[in-house]
Amino acid sequence: MNQKISKRLETVASFVPQGARLVDVGSDHAYLPLFLVEKAVISYAIAGEVVEGPYQSALQHVRESGYTQQIEVRLANGLAAFDQTDQMTAITIAGMGGRLIADILEAGKDKLEGIERLILQPNNREDDVREWLEIHDFRLVAETMVAENGKFYEILVAEPGEQSLTSLEKRFGPYLLQEVSPVFQQKWEREADKLQHALAQIPTEHSIERARIEEKIQQIKEVLHVSK
Ligand code: SAM
Repeated sequence: MNQKISKRLETVASFVPQGARLVDVGSDHAYLPLFLVEKAVISYAIAGEVVEGPYQSALQHVRESGYTQQIEVRLANGLAAFDQTDQMTAITIAGMGGRLIADILEAGKDKLEGIERLILQPNNREDDVREWLEIHDFRLVAETMVAENGKFYEILVAEPGEQSLTSLEKRFGPYLLQEVSPVFQQKWEREADKLQHALAQIPTEHSIERARIEEKIQQIKEVLHVSK
């Protein structure tokens, strides 16, 4: 089987180190571990799933691919999918809300000793993920943003280490902010448009709420170097 995956997941995969022992949390269909095993990037992965349906489809997919020696599918909540004896070195958590990703890491934080890299792809609330990383002594080592099917996805790569982020960096991403790529520009222009639209619906007497949104818009303009 030649595993084809989305551009989003392929970008997540590109940050998995060669030879990593990978835990993929929320591994619906086990697409990501299968892709990495087929490409010989990794030779062992645990595909963790908390919901029976996606767990069964991951199991079936791994069986059909013939990689049952390389990929173990486990029915488990978050980081409960592995323990120290598995000697895992990297974790991917993709395609979920940022709040949920932070909650999964928080609930399993005692498992993170020995983990050399986290590759996280929140669908939203990226600031919550960056905040969690900062508090728990993980530092971002790379970030990228991809656009696919009209959506924007941020991929955050972190390793053990200290880092102090400003609130601007938490919202926009320290590396993404430096790069201001065309995709980044598009995402935040769209976000500013949405905020403008929201602002237009808020009556003038709701000045606190209006000021809060205006500030968000202004921050985007500054980041994108828009003068007015
Ligand atoms: N990671 C894949 C991707 O990026 O394409 C699948 C994303 S899918 C939208 C999210 C998956 O995470 C679902 O299959 C869901 O059952 C699973 N999930 C949600 N919370 C989880 C948890 N606490 N532990 C394990 N899996 C979880």
